[in-house]
Amino acid sequence: VRHLLTSRVALGAVLLTLLVGAEVTVRALQDDVARLVQRSPVATARIVADISVAQVTDEGLARTGTLTSAQRDDLTTAVRSLQVHEHVTGVEIWAWDGRKIYGDPGSDPRETRLPAAELTRSHLGRTWTTTKGAGSGREHNTFEVFVPHDVDGDDRFETIVEVLIPSDPITTKLSRYTRVLEGSALLLLLIAAAVLAGWRRRILERERRALVDRLTGLPNRAGLRRQIGRALPRAGPVPGRWGAVMLLNLDGFRAINETLGHPAGDVLLRLVARKLQAVVRPTDVVARLTADEFAVLMTDLPGPGTALARAQATLDHLQAGPYVIDEVDLVVEVSLGIALLHQDGDDPDVLLRSADIAMYRAKTDGGGIVVYDDESDARDVGHLATLAELRRAIEDDQLVLHYQPKARLASGDLAGVEALVRWQHPDRGLIGPDQFIPLAENTGLIHSLSTWVLTEAVSQVARWRDEGLMLPVAVNISPRSLLRPDFPIAVLRLLADQAVPADLLEIEITETSVMSHPERAIDTCRQLATTGVRLSIDDFGAGYTSLGYLRRLPVQTLKIDRGFITDILTDPADRAIAASVIELGQRLGLTVLAEGIESAGVWDLLVQLGCDEGQGYHLARPMPAPDLLSWIQHRESTGPGTPARY
Ligand code: C2E
Ligand code: MG
Ligand code: MG
Repeated sequence: VRHLLTSRVALGAVLLTLLVGAEVTVRALQDDVARLVQRSPVATARIVADISVAQVTDEGLARTGTLTSAQRDDLTTAVRSLQVHEHVTGVEIWAWDGRKIYGDPGSDPRETRLPAAELTRSHLGRTWTTTKGAGSGREHNTFEVFVPHDVDGDDRFETIVEVLIPSDPITTKLSRYTRVLEGSALLLLLIAAAVLAGWRRRILERERRALVDRLTGLPNRAGLRRQIGRALPRAGPVPGRWGAVMLLNLDGFRAINETLGHPAGDVLLRLVARKLQAVVRPTDVVARLTADEFAVLMTDLPGPGTALARAQATLDHLQAGPYVIDEVDLVVEVSLGIALLHQDGDDPDVLLRSADIAMYRAKTDGGGIVVYDDESDARDVGHLATLAELRRAIEDDQLVLHYQPKARLASGDLAGVEALVRWQHPDRGLIGPDQFIPLAENTGLIHSLSTWVLTEAVSQVARWRDEGLMLPVAVNISPRSLLRPDFPIAVLRLLADQAVPADLLEIEITETSVMSHPERAIDTCRQLATTGVRLSIDDFGAGYTSLGYLRRLPVQTLKIDRGFITDILTDPADRAIAASVIELGQRLGLTVLAEGIESAGVWDLLVQLGCDEGQGYHLARPMPAPDLLSWIQHRESTGPGTPARY
C-alpha cells in the first residue's frame, strides 16, 4: 500500500485505470439509454414514412422522381394532421441521389440536397437516427429519423424519408442524467486524485522527517543507514571506489551543555554541523546520529589513505573553531573513528558499529583519529557493544568491588582501602573499570554506576564495622556524578541509612573534575566536607590543577599519580616531581599518598622522601572483600615487617 501511495507511476496507473473504467461504463450506459430512447421514435418514423409515401406511390414517384402539386398538398395535409397531434415535427423526402423531393412547409427551403455524410449513411439501407439540437431552426431535442424507402416494392430503395419526431421529455432527461453521471464520475475521480496526491505527499513527508535530525536538518541515524545502504553496492577496494564512514564525537559536550545550558549546546551543534558541511565534498553525506555524535559517509575515494587524510582535515577544521557562544569562545575537541566500506562491514549497522568502536578507542586515547582495526576489536568490543549489557549489569548486580589496601609508609599500619569496581561478566569474565567507565561516563549510565558503587562500599563498611573492623573506604567518583547538585545529600542519606560514620568514607576526585567546573566542584566539596566525609585528589600530577583552587578545596589527601612513582628509582625527573608534590602537599597540610608502588625499593625511597602513605602491588593488589579479611588476619599474625615494612 505504501508503495502504491508513494510511487507516482503506480498512482497514475491506478487513477488512469479508474478513469478509463468509469468512462467505459458511463459510455455503455449512455448507449443503452440512447438505444432505449430512440426505439419508439424509429418505430413512429417508419409508420409516418409508410403513410406519407403511400400518399404518392400510385402516381409513380419511383419512375419520375418528382411530385405533382396535388400530391404535395396531400402530403402537407397529412403532415399537418400529424403535427397537430405532436407525433411529428416535420417530414422531408429525398431522392436516392440526395435531391430534395419534398419538404414540409416548416422546412428550410434553401436546403435542396441532403448533406453528403447523411446521404452516405442512408445508402447503407438502414434506418438511422440523429438528434437535432438548438440552432437547427427546428425545435430543440428533435430526433431526425432517416428511413430508406422502397417506393414500388421491387426491394430497392428509391427515396429517403426524413421524419422529425419530438423527443419525449423523459427520454431527454434520461440522456441528460447519463451526462450528469459522467460528469460526477469525472469529478469524483478528480477528488480521489487530489486526496491520493495529498496522502502521497504526507507519507513522503513523514518518511523524510523520520530520516532527518530536526535540530540540524542533517540526516539522522536512519537516514545515514539508508545512504550507506545505497553506497555499499557501488563501493569496493578499487581505486576510485573506496568508501568510508567517519564517526565524530565531541569531547566534553555534556559539560558544555550543563554549564552553558541546552540552548547554547544546540547552537554549538548547529555550528559544528555547518562546519562539517563546509569541509566535506558535496557528494559526502553528513549526518547527526545522537546528541553530540556526527558521521560523514565518503564515497568514490582513491584509497583508504585518502579517507584518513580527509578525516584529519575534517578534524583540524572542526577543532580550529571559533565557536563563540554567549561571548564564550568554546574549545571543541573531537574523537574520530573511521571504518571502511566492505572491509570493516558489509552492512550499515556493522559499519557504524565498527566506526563507533574506533571512535571510542580514539576517545579513550584522549581524542584524535583511530581507524577501525579488526584485530584489536575482539578486546574492545567488550566495552562498546555492551551499553545495554552494562545497564543490565548495574541492575542485576554483576558489578563487584575489589579493595586495595593503603598503608602508612613509615609504620606499615593499614590506613584504609580503595574500592575499585569490576564487572563480573557472565561470558567475558572479570572486566576492568578502564573497559567500561569511559562508556558509562559518556552515556549518563555513570550516575547509576556511582550510586551502585557508593551504596556497595558503604554497606561493606557497615558489614566490617559489625564484625568489629573500622576500616575507611575510598570511592572513586567521576566528575559528572560529583557535580550533580543532589550528590552531597545522596551521600549523607546513604551514610545515615547504614549508620556509618562519615569519616569512614573517603571520596576520590580527579583534577579534571575540579578544573572543568572549579566553583561548582569547590562548592560540592565544601558541602561534603561539612558532613565529615573525607576527600582526596586522585592521580595528582597527571592533569593540571590550579594551585589557587587546590588551596580552596577542603581535601585531606593528595594521591600522586602512579605515573611518577612506578619508575621513580630510575627516573630522576619523576623523583624530583614526587619530592616536590610531597613537599607541596605537606606544606598545605595535606596527607600525601603515593600510588603504584610495585617494589620494596620504591617503598623505601618514598619513606626517605617523607611521603605519608602508599598503595600498590607491593603492598597488595585489589582483592574481593573476603580475601581482604584473610589478608588482614594473615598480616596481623605474621606481624609488621612481613612482607617488607609492616
Ligand atoms: P585509580 O583510582 O587511580 O585506581 C588505581 C588503579 O591503579 C587501579 O586500577 C589499581 O588496580 C591500579 N594499581 C594499584 N596498584 C598498582 C601498582 O602497583 N601498579 C599498577 N600498574 N597499577 C596499580 P583499576 O582498578 O583498573 O582502576 C583504574 C581506574 O578506574 C581507577 O584509577 C579509577 O580512576 C577508575 N575506577 C575504578 N573504580 C571506579 C569506580 O568505582 N568509579 C569510578 N568512577 N571510577 C573507578
Ligand atoms: Mg582512585
Ligand atoms: Mg589513582
